[in-house]
Amino acid sequence: MEKYLSQLNDAQLEPTIQIDGPMIVIAGAGSGKTRVLTYRIAYMMSKGIDPFNILSLTFTNKAAREMKERIATIVGASEAKNLWMGTFHSVFAKILRIEADRLGYPSNFTIYDTQDSDRLIASIIKEMSLDKDIYKYKQVRSRISSYKNSLITVRAYFQNPELKEADAMARRPRMGDIYKEYVERCFKAGAMDFDDLLLKTNELLTRFPEVLAKYQNRFKYILVDEYQDTNHSQYLIVRALSDKFQNICVVGDDAQSIYAFRGANINNILNFQKDYDDVKVFRLEQNYRSTKNIVNAANSIIDKNQTKLDKIVWTANDEGDKIKVNRSLTDGDEGRYVASTIWESKMNHQLKNSDFAILYRTNAQSRAIEDALRKRDIKYRIYGGLSFYQRKEIKDVLSYLRLIINPADEEALKRVINFPPRGIGQTTVDKLIVSANGYNRTIFEVMKHIDKTDVKVNSGTKTKLQNFVTLIESFQVLNQTADVFELAEHVTRTSGLIREFNKDGTPEGVTRMENIEELLNGMKDFVEGQKEIADTTGSLAEFLEDVALATDLDADKGDADHVALMTIHLAKGLEFPYVFIVGLEEDLFPSAMSMNTRSELEEERRLFYVALTRAEKQAYLTYALSRYRWGKLIDSEPSRFIEEIDEQYLDIVTPIEERRFNPMLDADIFGDVEPNKIRYKPAKQPVLKKSGTKKSPEKFKVTTPKNLKPVAKTGGNTNLFDSKLVVGNIVKHIRFGTGEVMKIEGAGADIKAEINFQHGGVKKLLLRFAKLEVV
Ligand code: ATP
Ligand code: MG
Repeated sequence: MEKYLSQLNDAQLEPTIQIDGPMIVIAGAGSGKTRVLTYRIAYMMSKGIDPFNILSLTFTNKAAREMKERIATIVGASEAKNLWMGTFHSVFAKILRIEADRLGYPSNFTIYDTQDSDRLIASIIKEMSLDKDIYKYKQVRSRISSYKNSLITVRAYFQNPELKEADAMARRPRMGDIYKEYVERCFKAGAMDFDDLLLKTNELLTRFPEVLAKYQNRFKYILVDEYQDTNHSQYLIVRALSDKFQNICVVGDDAQSIYAFRGANINNILNFQKDYDDVKVFRLEQNYRSTKNIVNAANSIIDKNQTKLDKIVWTANDEGDKIKVNRSLTDGDEGRYVASTIWESKMNHQLKNSDFAILYRTNAQSRAIEDALRKRDIKYRIYGGLSFYQRKEIKDVLSYLRLIINPADEEALKRVINFPPRGIGQTTVDKLIVSANGYNRTIFEVMKHIDKTDVKVNSGTKTKLQNFVTLIESFQVLNQTADVFELAEHVTRTSGLIREFNKDGTPEGVTRMENIEELLNGMKDFVEGQKEIADTTGSLAEFLEDVALATDLDADKGDADHVALMTIHLAKGLEFPYVFIVGLEEDLFPSAMSMNTRSELEEERRLFYVALTRAEKQAYLTYALSRYRWGKLIDSEPSRFIEEIDEQYLDIVTPIEERRFNPMLDADIFGDVEPNKIRYKPAKQPVLKKSGTKKSPEKFKVTTPKNLKPVAKTGGNTNLFDSKLVVGNIVKHIRFGTGEVMKIEGAGADIKAEINFQHGGVKKLLLRFAKLEVV
């Protein structure tokens, strides 16, 4: 037997070496589903199956890349290169490019990201003179998205009176008209939005049997990870492609289905056995990721859901520490608790920032956490916010590049036609749009042949429009010979973008310049990379496609050491040694918007299950008693999910406010001045007095920073409070060992020393707390 197969347990081995026929692996978190998929592909290749015939669909491109790397170490890099692996969107975008002309699209079609879609929809709402408070563009976009993912085309929409009625009831009777206009405008602009990438693939496979046959024969073996979160459109694609050979392997966990709100259909996994004949079902039960405490706690949570497949998950891993539950007064305190806990555990256990993840329900929660991390100087990275490629200046550059490839691209054109300012006003642009709609031509075509159109502008404006056309056309010429990097460098200079951002002079302007530089660096990498990897052509079109489909997660090269901050949705499939789940409060998590029905609440619970099962060694649950939401301080209650966990797995940490002011407990070891240790305490919160042992509230005195007296320590050399310490002294610290005093600053109770420890590096310690001994 191949050696690598010994890295699987028996239950994992079975599905790994079962190559033919339909099969499903249903198993809980951390049980090795993704590992099975990875090894299975390696095994198939070692059995002589051509990688060209294998299609593997993953949840993120990063996951695909990691799988490919792993497979490459087993079977060799050159073989692994030929595998088709990636997200549904990225794989089918490639196929659509090959087949685009059948659908009337240019092969270099643009991919509109959500920002582009939003802008187009907003523009259509305005052109139709509709009330933008009723027709909110984001809501309209998500409605259109759900039609598309349910394969409801414009024609189907108008044939279905129920849909029209539903939209009319929602006070949006013109929904269908907006949908129609949006689809036509995208088509005319040679653009597909994210949902189109699936919808058009379905169209391609149903309308053209020869295309279907071609890809059925091509992808004889299909594998899908995270199958529980496929939507209807994705389901149909998989179904169609696997219909001929039925060599389909899907893995998933119904307990981790968390994208129903975006159209994912949990029934896809529940009904898999009905969809194919003789489905082999495999189950994995052993979790390799987490401690016993985490696995058991997660089991006790998911048990509360009624809709679920029965599964067993156990682990042979250590018991581990109990899950820590922490209560804070405010969201600010919560942030400080998280930051100080990370800081302390890093110190105590020699950990890296990247050992930690902070997961939250909504992106807005990151702010308080970020503030606290910054104060502690802990490096972090937020995933899933505005991706790099969606930043204004980056989109400006990319819009020029998009126009080179596809001048029909309406959103790109509107973005840069007057940026940097070249005297083409909004009125002119509006005239161009109207005219283009009238002639059923693109805006660019109208500009190019302005004399033959009905557009009324003065000759000065006409020249400006023609100059813009000439500018883009000159870029197109250069694109024939230059690589992506050279081209982009030329474009940023010649278009005036660099000058525009440079003259700004503000810190934001500087950041924008840095981002553009970063973009150019990325292009350089792309160009270099293409020389090494045979399966990319390195064309501008390809670069733009990568960029359009890049998620924030994909951009992570894993090189920098930072704490990861992200929503739980994004954390699916990932793992971290230490995980904080923050904001565990009613109405936040579970979300106020998801408590109307049992099924919504169950989805929230699954989300919590996903969050908890990301942790390998230790999980922390935190909540605040009050939190700023929508600009107001709102009281909150602990989430029901905390109570739902079997108590025996929890360690309710002494609330930080009671702990923080006991310098004996807290500060003596670190001796570092931490901003969150010095804060005002509301009178209601009982605080331990220095010597406090008895807890009768009347006796408690409110401790404020002002009356927090330094604790005098007795004995030997350890009290260096009024120190004779000088630069150059060699000192010994109980934890950090020996080090040399580099600098002394401050006065009185605030005297600090900067010490270069032999093993711990440079640390700044407050002498009144640091137990130092001069040696
Ligand atoms: P999720 O449901 O969260 O996606 P999963 O079922 O896909 O989880 P994996 O990510 O494949 O689980 O595996 C979880 C962890 O356990 C990984 O770090 C993996 O390398 C490790 N692992 C899986 N199987 C084994 C095994 N047989 N021996 C050692 N480690 C294993
Ligand atoms: Mg997985």
